[in-house]
Amino acid sequence: ALYIDDNGLCKVIAKNCIECGGCIGVCPVGAISLPQLPVGVNGKSDSLTAAAAKSPAALVESDKLSRFRGVWVFIEQREGQILPVSMELLGAGGKLAQKLDVELSGVLMGDQVCGLVDKVYEYGADRVFYIDHPSLHYYRTEPYMRVMVDLAEKYCPEVILIGATTVGRDLAGAVATELKTGLTADCTELDIDSGQRLLLATRPAFGGNIMATIVARRHRPQMATIRPKVMRMAAPVPNRKGVLVQPEIELDENKILTRVLEVIKEQGEKVNLQDAEIIVAGGRGLGDRTGFIEICFGLARAIDAQVGASRAAVEAGWVEQKYQIGQTGVTVAPKIYLALGISGAVQHLVGIKGSDIIIAVNTDPDAPIFQECTYGIVGDVFKIVPLLTEPLKELLA
Ligand code: FAD
Repeated sequence: ALYIDDNGLCKVIAKNCIECGGCIGVCPVGAISLPQLPVGVNGKSDSLTAAAAKSPAALVESDKLSRFRGVWVFIEQREGQILPVSMELLGAGGKLAQKLDVELSGVLMGDQVCGLVDKVYEYGADRVFYIDHPSLHYYRTEPYMRVMVDLAEKYCPEVILIGATTVGRDLAGAVATELKTGLTADCTELDIDSGQRLLLATRPAFGGNIMATIVARRHRPQMATIRPKVMRMAAPVPNRKGVLVQPEIELDENKILTRVLEVIKEQGEKVNLQDAEIIVAGGRGLGDRTGFIEICFGLARAIDAQVGASRAAVEAGWVEQKYQIGQTGVTVAPKIYLALGISGAVQHLVGIKGSDIIIAVNTDPDAPIFQECTYGIVGDVFKIVPLLTEPLKELLA
């Protein structure tokens, strides 16, 4: 029942508030007090909002905001392949567009990637803005930001969604700064307040202690980045068609400050947690590096799974950071997630809640992971995992 307003203040969502005062202790910076609650909570009108909405300044402002219509998704492509997160966002964006009763558009840019346009329609876009230019061959902040900003200024979308990839995080910040609008990074849920046409962007805040729903009341477009695997991809509709828009964009390579001279691919073992179907993740409960390798890597090898880790295991130096799952690691959505010796801190749970089945092994029957898992085993990983290995191997063969 909480959100953070444009000024960074914790506010109560009046219609969800039952005046229990439970939120006061939850806010770690003590920003909430009962007298702050608007008059007429419990489903009645928010008097402060209602009063503001009637003032002449508010009317001019609402007129200004009403020029903005439509939901956009930035379609990220690398080497001519659309990243799955863009398809996931088309699914999420479609639901927002439906609630706002507007079109869903994909913004695709690159160097001769027009072959990807049909796929954007198939995953739900009604319209595709396609910008083709040699300067857009590799991602660079300047030209990509310029194109996105020019399009947004010309076509005035009310919502822009961007995948929270390395590229997306860079682009979103640059675009929001240039457009002087609000950006909520790393959202885990998106919704619409249809009455006020507000994007309700929810993300963990204050170290994951609360889920904050952030709104941009006075600025458009409303922007959000969303991590891969957080939203479910909608099923594609083969041969679905939409409207192609190819705006004229001026880009002068000589005025761009950066050049890509060479792309060197990362060497070494590739850890692909985001696409893994089965993950064996270990935490501090594995005791030390040897325990982690023996139990986690051992089981993962036996059942052909990907290894993951809690932050405690990474910080202890047992595995590299690329294995970390959670708020400051990777978000995953496997069919089976095995949590071995992981307590289930909220910062870990936000990264695994898209899993179909969570199996937890922990000696502590009160460990929070048992509140979230599908199957829980109270016991010592060093005794349980050897007993589980063969049956799991047979089951998953
Ligand atoms: P612990 O919490 O210490 O849990 C170990 C568990 O092992 C215990 O429940 C214990 O009962 C059990 N155990 C012990 N021995 C055995 C045994 N022999 N057999 C079975 N069970 C056993 N954490 C993440 O994981 N990912 C993140 O991305 C992340 N981001 C964070 C961001 C911020 C801003 C902050 C503040 C924290 C973040 N954390 C993150 C840290 C998080 O709060 C926890 O500290 C961390 O997840 C704990 O890891 P753990 O469960 O392995 O360790």
